[in-house]
Amino acid sequence: MSDRWETERPLLSVVLPAYNEAGNVGPMAERLAEILAPIGSYEIVFVDDCSKDATLATLRRLAADDPHVRYVSFTRNFGHQSALRAGLRHARGDGVVLMDCDFEHPPELIPEMIAAWRGGAKIAAGQRESSPEISFRKRFTSNLYYRVLDAIGDVRIEPGSADFLLLDRQVVDILNGFDDHDVFLRGLVRWLGFPLVKVPYHQGVRSEGQSSYTLRRMIDLAISGIIAHSVRPLRIAIHLALIFAFIGLLLLVYSVVSFLWIGHTVAGWTSTMSAIAILGAGQFLVLGIIGEYVGRVLRETRKWPSFLIAETEADTPAAHPETLPSSLAARRHANEP
Ligand code: UDP
Ligand code: MG
Repeated sequence: MSDRWETERPLLSVVLPAYNEAGNVGPMAERLAEILAPIGSYEIVFVDDCSKDATLATLRRLAADDPHVRYVSFTRNFGHQSALRAGLRHARGDGVVLMDCDFEHPPELIPEMIAAWRGGAKIAAGQRESSPEISFRKRFTSNLYYRVLDAIGDVRIEPGSADFLLLDRQVVDILNGFDDHDVFLRGLVRWLGFPLVKVPYHQGVRSEGQSSYTLRRMIDLAISGIIAHSVRPLRIAIHLALIFAFIGLLLLVYSVVSFLWIGHTVAGWTSTMSAIAILGAGQFLVLGIIGEYVGRVLRETRKWPSFLIAETEADTPAAHPETLPSSLAARRHANEP
């Protein structure tokens, strides 16, 4: 690791998924250029998740003007996690930073992440400090979620973790080898087991546009995270079965006692109805959970790609090809997919 820093300047890639971020990609590219200029050897890789606004047009322009800027653009909206994976595949750096492009992940943190990387860390993870900017609901649900995942899953994710990471090339290559459909990146990265250095940051404020993570998408991601890292929910069927067997036993005792000693056996409509309702709900719940897993098994066996690329910066002629830094020009061929 240290040798590499002494003999050559490693290339750093910064990967930014962008969905309807026309107002953000330009200022973000500019800010990153300022921060990364001292490093010299860097590339900025935007992943346009089939935005409905002028994001792609802006990226084409940025890439034509600045050889450091590259992009991939999806055929349709495949979601944030898929965009991150496409970025990881497209990035050529010896280290790859993953971050949002709405300024919520402050680009100013990158030098600190690089310092951790230089110190030997294979993974430097941005750790969001709690701040009044983040709503109580978001903090509460995210803490609760990570606690549940910790209890039942095979990874431990600290509250405040985000997809704001610097990954060494070794980690990137391993991640690129995974071809699962439903990846929960911040879980997978921790599951790999490489030592991880936390770099605390205060979440910035989204500068343009609005969050595309609706409640439904958040729930989808939360379910993906649990299912990717735990099969324990399937066991809920056994727990429910035990609980219902116990209730059933009590009802049986009650019926026998009523029949033999109390003598009113006709009444019982209420208890029958409650038993049906409870059992019905329990069965639907279990079926739903099994369905989630079965659906994913189907998706994995079909081996459909997680994303499809419509266009990359290679389709955009560079405005000034002669300005391409030589280190980048060499890598352009060495690492092209
Ligand atoms: N994003 C994406 N595809 C989507 C939704 C979001 O690539 O379908 C990007 C978005 O442009 C941003 C990042 O993922 O860079 C995080 O999204 P957002 O800010 O909407 O989520 P939040 O920060 O509210 O969790
Ligand atoms: Mg955001």
